[in-house]
Amino acid sequence: GQQPTGPTPDPASRPKASVFDKATRFFDPEGDYVKVTEAGLYPYFRAIEVNEGSRAVMDGRETIMAGSNNYLGLTSDPRVVQAAKDAVDRYGTGCTGSRFLNGTLDLHLELEERLAAFMRKEACVLFSTGYMTNQGLLQSVAQRGDVIFSDKDNHACILAGQQVSAAETVRYRHNDLDHLRTFLQRTSEERPEAGKLIVTDGVFSMSGTLAKVPELVALAEEFGAALMLDDAHAVGVVGDGGRGSASVFGLEDRVDLTTGTFSKSFSSLGGFAVGDETVIEYVRHTASTHIFSASMPPSAVATVLACLDILETEPERLDRLQEISDFMRDGFRALGFDVWASQTPIIPVVIGEMYRCFEFWKDLLDAGVFANAVIPPAVPKGQSLMRTSYMATHTDAELQTVLDAFEQVGLKHGIIAPGGKPGPA
Ligand code: PMP
Repeated sequence: GQQPTGPTPDPASRPKASVFDKATRFFDPEGDYVKVTEAGLYPYFRAIEVNEGSRAVMDGRETIMAGSNNYLGLTSDPRVVQAAKDAVDRYGTGCTGSRFLNGTLDLHLELEERLAAFMRKEACVLFSTGYMTNQGLLQSVAQRGDVIFSDKDNHACILAGQQVSAAETVRYRHNDLDHLRTFLQRTSEERPEAGKLIVTDGVFSMSGTLAKVPELVALAEEFGAALMLDDAHAVGVVGDGGRGSASVFGLEDRVDLTTGTFSKSFSSLGGFAVGDETVIEYVRHTASTHIFSASMPPSAVATVLACLDILETEPERLDRLQEISDFMRDGFRALGFDVWASQTPIIPVVIGEMYRCFEFWKDLLDAGVFANAVIPPAVPKGQSLMRTSYMATHTDAELQTVLDAFEQVGLKHGIIAPGGKPGPA
């Protein structure tokens, strides 16, 4: 081949492409990133050295993990770990291809069958993450001429699905079903032929509240719309035997599509969608994220199968999770904290301004508790919060330590006042 000629350019003198100006601006000394980092308050991408359910070691420091989505506490359960190891022994480490081509193992089919049966639906399709599940499903099911009706607080991957879908999207105010009705009415009048899909988180990931499933089902049926629930924080957490948000209301058979993730209760990585056979089979053949990306590795699938066994045979874990959630909500409220209207093991603790939230996060870590600092745009401005979440394996002593740490740090920052009152801050 022809060798390039001319002098070798000096990399240092090469002009920087302007497309990267935004990256340079990210490091503006007056910007939040530099200021927060220099103050030693940057709370993200922190490395965990020991990860044993409710116990985590970070920077050599023992902490109680109160910020994970490991709801059933199964990530280090010996049975689950053994199942993952056995799968590696039998199938190797990866599938090196998409489900469509060389990436389907008998294990994938077994899991799809098990999940369809568990969720009381005809069929199930796996994806390699929950994010890809929602994005792929929306792109596949909602096409040109269709309209997606989406709750404004839906997870980012639903937003991504709306963006790749050729359907039009309207976003209704969070949980505001009168607002949703207005949009459904308008679409039915102006474009009676349009296919309609309502999509909502079953459990909202920041507030820990449930979607209004009975009212959504009624609206969907009134307007001939399909209803899709993202049950990432619901399957393995709420409902009969952990069957998710529709199951809380006994409405599984009135919901058209339910998606879930394996990165939370199922201790793994991956996602799934369940629904009618024809729809799921169509999704299998048309969802880009399913066809053009490699399938879940064998260890990940075996992990989910082992967790599903435990979920089905040890329902007391769900009872314990519920008990813990109630205990923590009551505990935070008794101390004077605002936990919004949480109904699940996701319990937000409102702090307020972003910098205060970062300081709170740091002081809490120093007190031996890890939880997640959540700032705008994930939450409204001035409502930065510590997102706490619990697992069935938290001990009573650990939970009390978490409450004590929040009390100590909350008093210090004036978020609460002595005597269980909200603070002046
Ligand atoms: N939906 C919701 C509501 C979520 O909170 C998440 C993960 N944070 C996802 C989907 C994506 O799941 P995964 O981690 O499997 O990509």
